[in-house]
Amino acid sequence: MFNPFSLEGKRILVTGASSGIGRCVAITCSKIGAQMVLNGRNQERLDETLSMLEGEGHLALAADLSTQEGVDYLVSECPPLNGLVHSAGFLHISSLKHTDQFMVRNVVDTNQISAVLLVIGLLRNKKIIKHSSIVLIASISGVFVSNTGEALYSATKGAISGFAKGAALELAAQGTRVNTICPGVVETPLLNVSKDAFSEEEMKALLSRYPLKRLGLPEDIANGAVFLLSDASEWITGINLLIDGGYCLT
Ligand code: NAD
Repeated sequence: MFNPFSLEGKRILVTGASSGIGRCVAITCSKIGAQMVLNGRNQERLDETLSMLEGEGHLALAADLSTQEGVDYLVSECPPLNGLVHSAGFLHISSLKHTDQFMVRNVVDTNQISAVLLVIGLLRNKKIIKHSSIVLIASISGVFVSNTGEALYSATKGAISGFAKGAALELAAQGTRVNTICPGVVETPLLNVSKDAFSEEEMKALLSRYPLKRLGLPEDIANGAVFLLSDASEWITGINLLIDGGYCLT
């Protein structure tokens, strides 16, 4: 049956695949035919994701992508790819007054530099074949909006979006597309961190800003990733795909 969203015959690397959005992207892609390469820092949790995948021939490679060594290891062990979803990252909330240089370096290394080094490493080692699709998970924060306490987090996500645009132009010659997905608040383990940072009242107020009357689910983002990875989006490059239940309308 004709299915423009099929990922049959494609090999896709998902970083941050040991939980949340990355895990859901990996499971969803495997269900529609992709062979998966999973990355996260914790081998046990990666193996858990591996056991949730459909199909055969998947691979899990644990590496800390906030370091050059971790990126180098992943690049060297990774087979050639038709797609990448870079979901590794974390939410950081702190006022500017309470942000020190160690926090800055940690957030920038994990959320921003990891994406840049990984894409460069894969390209230089010919691990991204022609007509591939690269999807970087950014955020509404830093690309469309921001929130008090999110200046540093926003800076890293905005940087990813800028990187994606430049890379999209450069890689268009080889038919490779580069896009970001910008999720609103999605219910994942990461949200628990922000739940701690917000009072119950504040969470209620947050929910009221979602016109579609719920927070996001990992599946909402995974389905967007499938679209961008598939041939259904073969004329789309350099965009920020906003998936936010209408948050940015309010
Ligand atoms: P999560 O904490 O469930 O998953 C993040 C994953 O990244 C984890 O598996 C973690 O182990 C991995 N990771 C973190 N640092 C890493 C490193 N140095 N090397 C390798 N792996 C690393 O969070 P999530 O909600 O699934 O977030 C995934 C991405 O989506 C993040 O980039 C986040 O900024 C972005 N995002 C999330 C939301 C949300 O509301 N959940 C909203 C917008 C954007």
